[in-house]
Amino acid sequence: MEIVENNEQKIVVKLKGVPLQYANALRRICLTGVPVFAIDDVVIIENSSVLADEGIAHRLAMTPLRTDLTRFVEPSKCSCHSEMGCTHCRVMLMIDSGSVDTTRTITSAELTSEDDFVKPVSDKIPIIELAPGQKLKLEAYARLGRGTEHAKWNSATVSVLTETANSEDHILMVESTGALTPAQIVLAGIDELAKNLDGFKQVIAAL
Ligand SMILES: [Zn+2]
Repeated sequence: MEIVENNEQKIVVKLKGVPLQYANALRRICLTGVPVFAIDDVVIIENSSVLADEGIAHRLAMTPLRTDLTRFVEPSKCSCHSEMGCTHCRVMLMIDSGSVDTTRTITSAELTSEDDFVKPVSDKIPIIELAPGQKLKLEAYARLGRGTEHAKWNSATVSVLTETANSEDHILMVESTGALTPAQIVLAGIDELAKNLDGFKQVIAAL
């Protein structure tokens, strides 16, 4: 294995002498098997913008959020067993535009979070343009989830390229949405793969 490139956005790993199926298993698990935060519930308190409530909820859902896997768990694995969630499985974010005097774009910078870490990966993502007299006020609930459930929980775009010189050498390229670092995604992916294999082992051992 060789790290070809590693930075904030992207990690490129060369897997040497590995069958393509293994590289693809890693690709799939890095894409949709690593939990990240996304907004999946929005309570609109006031919306006089031109966009319907569902449109705003969709834009918020597709806004990548920084994720901390050490302090939070997926709702299905949380001991609170509550649909509302608790401080271990849910983060609340808010927008309150107030009254707008001039036409103004509400960006992810105004999506304030109750958590210091779990917040939009960028301040510059446009959410809605408000005209004078329009208002937007809402509460949004973010939870950990996986891309297997919905694309809003995809942690990265991941591709596998096969070297033309040696068909047993593959390049795994992971480009993060910013929710986790690319290295964290690969590590979490390997953990997930190991957990799945362990579960499989237990099933077979119990036969
Ligand atoms: Zn909980």
